[in-house]
Amino acid sequence: MSFASLGLCPALQQAVDARGYDQPTDIQARAIPVVLRGDDVMAQASTGSGKTAAFVLPLLQQLLATHRDGPRRLRGLVLVPTRELAVQIADTWREMTQDLPVRVKTVAVFGGVSINPQMMALRGDADFVVATPGRLLDLVQHNALRLGGVQTLVLDEADRLLDLGFADELQRVLALLPARRQNLLFSATFAPEVQALAEGLLRQPVKLQA
Ligand code: AMP
Repeated sequence: MSFASLGLCPALQQAVDARGYDQPTDIQARAIPVVLRGDDVMAQASTGSGKTAAFVLPLLQQLLATHRDGPRRLRGLVLVPTRELAVQIADTWREMTQDLPVRVKTVAVFGGVSINPQMMALRGDADFVVATPGRLLDLVQHNALRLGGVQTLVLDEADRLLDLGFADELQRVLALLPARRQNLLFSATFAPEVQALAEGLLRQPVKLQA
């Protein structure tokens, strides 16, 4: 099976070819068409499954399909539990976009380091932000980031977000997002607290279980 057969455009097929991905992984094959269609997703996927590209690629295709010259605005927000994951996802995003016809800006923000370089990085806005919830709220408070244009929200490693005590911050972020948006939730487990979060967040999600 090819990425193109999942509905990916030639520019993104080239990007995966350049990374040496011969075939989509299972989660990619199942998630990419659903995300491209605009549906909400609840997916069971752990690290190593290829889950990052399962959301990065369709979000990039949505950007390419609707890109207009003009001011940049944040359209995709990914919330993650840790700094390491934020950096790793943003790196994947940049690798996928380096040869695209449109310049795509992705910024990772996370706590435990000075906020100023992150405020500088967000100047002129970003297309995609990968964030830990607390630092994201700090940046919103500093007016470094506006969430009103977010079209897609991704919660990655949702079970760990809850385990690490981010539930309140998560709810505060959700309250700042536009009501009409696409939501993608990835989690290694569907523990009851993850199910409860999903019920409040997702609209008629397509469930993808390993
Ligand atoms: P992830 O689960 O998203 O952290 O990805 C795990 C690893 O698999 C990363 O090193 C990716 O670069 C790699 N990977 C993701 N998708 C594919 C694919 N379709 N073919 C080969 N490697 C992949």
